[in-house]
Amino acid sequence: MQVARRALEVLGEQIRLDSLYVHSRASIGVRLGTADQTAEELLLDADTAMYAAKREGRSIIKVFEPVMLYSRQLRSQMATELRGAISSDELVLHYQPVVELATNRILGVEVLVRWQHPLRGLIPPDTFIPLAEEIGVIHDLDRWVMSASLRQLAQWRRDFVLDDDFQLRVNLSAVELKQLDLVDHIRTLLRELDLPARNLVVEITETAIVTRGEVEMYSLLSLQQLGVGIEIDDFGTGYSSISYLRELPVSMVKVDRSLLVELNTRAGQLEFVAAILQLIRAAGLEAVFEGIETREQADQLRALGCASGQGYYFSRPMPAEETGALLSTTRYLRVGEGVDGPETAPSR
Ligand code: C2E
Ligand code: CA
Ligand code: CA
Repeated sequence: MQVARRALEVLGEQIRLDSLYVHSRASIGVRLGTADQTAEELLLDADTAMYAAKREGRSIIKVFEPVMLYSRQLRSQMATELRGAISSDELVLHYQPVVELATNRILGVEVLVRWQHPLRGLIPPDTFIPLAEEIGVIHDLDRWVMSASLRQLAQWRRDFVLDDDFQLRVNLSAVELKQLDLVDHIRTLLRELDLPARNLVVEITETAIVTRGEVEMYSLLSLQQLGVGIEIDDFGTGYSSISYLRELPVSMVKVDRSLLVELNTRAGQLEFVAAILQLIRAAGLEAVFEGIETREQADQLRALGCASGQGYYFSRPMPAEETGALLSTTRYLRVGEGVDGPETAPSR
């Protein structure tokens, strides 16, 4: 462990390359050998520990444990399956309404992907999105979601009348923003499907944006020019300052659900949320709150003057058919009269 720590320390020193300062990092796996092991086995185990270290973050040292072998096998099996899942239509899309708090009008829906695994059932995205990022299939996944959900929107528009300003909200990973052809891809899809760009909003996490690389800025500016809405997702979990977000071509901010969790239990939390709302407004941006689970929270946010939100209180994410059935019959969401919480929210 001492040797490993020393290696990290030395690597951590910055290196000057012309005018650039470079910081390098390492993930280190350690295997304490036994007499009967061959060198190859030792290396393989150390490698497994190294991958475990990589998964936990940066500059981490891990000592090999047998259980890592199992989880590595499981992961590599899942990785193979995930690659196949995208091409064999095992991914399904659910949709969660975003509503205007004052009227419960449905402003749009957020697209949330799930994996319908033939053996394991419906797998939530938190389990496979990080894996998709790690093994480099997030690009294919995001493109699939974008085109499948836009197709769905076009279908709904053929089947019934949607509001002009209806928003289909699609999550985009940081990797996507770095693709030079992202804007072209979206423009082509919108044209092919005859969809107005204003019906599309992309949700991008604040951590994806703060790097502000040239390509990222190009993507954001071109999307904005195209007329696509851009929203910062999970606001409040990263490190970006609002004055920095002001500089970006962004029109909306989605406040992370963790800020609502303690709304009624932690002293000062309501004031804190109110202050954040003020800040977002002062920056000329629109605020959306996610994770609204109770009527009380909805009332409080409405009282603060927050315009829109989403959460289990209004509706769980639901399959395309249910979403279509809802959108075709009403513009206003009916929320369980006088009763709170996910259990009574409509359309589970
Ligand atoms: P997110 O973008 O923050 O999405 C909102 C998540 O909060 C969803 O989880 C949704 O089901 C959940 N949620 C909604 N209302 C409530 C509520 O009232 N209380 C609580 N506790 N949770 C609520 P989900 O569907 O499991 O998605 C998790 C994350 O996976 C998303 O977080 C997003 O970061 C990622 N994700 C989902 N679909 C895609 C996709 O197509 N592409 C990419 N790149 N990421 C995706
Ligand atoms: Ca989102
Ligand atoms: Ca979010």
